[in-house]
Amino acid sequence: MKVLTCTKPGLLTYSEQYMPVSKKDHAIIKIKRIGICGTDLHAFGGNQPYFNYPRVLGHELAGELIDADNAPGFQVGEAVTIIPYFNCGHCLPCRNGKPNHCVNIQVCGVHIDGGMVQYLSVPSHALVHGRNLSLDHLALVEPLAIGAHGINRAAVQKNEWVLVMGAGPIGLGTMEFARIAGAKVIAMDISDSKLQFCKDYLQVNHVVNATSADVVGQLQHITNGDMPTVVIDATGNLSAIDNGFKYMSHGARYVLIGLQKGDINFSHPEFHKREGTLMSSRNALRSDFDHVMNALELGLVDPLTYITHRVKFNEVKDAFESWTKPETGVIKAMVTVD
Ligand SMILES: [Zn+2]
Ligand SMILES: [Zn+2]
Repeated sequence: MKVLTCTKPGLLTYSEQYMPVSKKDHAIIKIKRIGICGTDLHAFGGNQPYFNYPRVLGHELAGELIDADNAPGFQVGEAVTIIPYFNCGHCLPCRNGKPNHCVNIQVCGVHIDGGMVQYLSVPSHALVHGRNLSLDHLALVEPLAIGAHGINRAAVQKNEWVLVMGAGPIGLGTMEFARIAGAKVIAMDISDSKLQFCKDYLQVNHVVNATSADVVGQLQHITNGDMPTVVIDATGNLSAIDNGFKYMSHGARYVLIGLQKGDINFSHPEFHKREGTLMSSRNALRSDFDHVMNALELGLVDPLTYITHRVKFNEVKDAFESWTKPETGVIKAMVTVD
């Protein structure tokens, strides 16, 4: 079968490898869709934490189940996606029902080889039924679940102001699930065209360009002086993350979904006087996947609008570098595998 490996930062290589074989407690998926994620682009760029090379990228996957051991309820031939955060099952977070931050986590396409292959072996417990969703939708469940998990972490309430920094695919999903939770959403980005996308497709009424003048003043104006009670970073950009502390209302929760390699800097007195809460949001839980799939079934979100670029598997190598450049206007690139 054909495999695409990121052999080192900046270099992708196709090779032929043996098909995976049936294994106890594992399933084999014939991959049909691969969503390209910021994580993949950062890994290609060499600026993703937790990464070693060579690595087969790809974790936003949809395909057909062709073999399964110990997967009760699953049928060979059905469409599936996966929860790509393979957990150990016995560490403290696993015992506490939080496999998303398992101490021994192996994220498919990050810590271990991922889905840029024709056939992929995964632990059977990672399988998710495709319900009647399309393959494109199924490959978009994981990135949406990241946002849904962040909203869940913040325990977003009806009618509160939620500021989402970053209007990439993760930020967009975060905005969608903030809206579904009943929040009033403010989108922030450095790109006016991305902010316009939020207005046009995501029912986001309030947008702020982070590079414009008096950002704090604009947020005060939008929120009647209160400032957002929830701030969420979906940029993974250090200066954006540092700035986010200034956008918190008193009593606000600040949730970091985005990830970068540096040390965060913020004023202790400013944070302290707000009695702020800072938390990270890592991966997602099966309950987040269920929440996302319910929302997709009900038509509450339409992430197909995020797909700006579509290529076949044998075209990924040539197209990949262009997706790292903002001028290509990429939101979500989707790979179709025959
Ligand atoms: Zn992703
Ligand atoms: Zn564990």
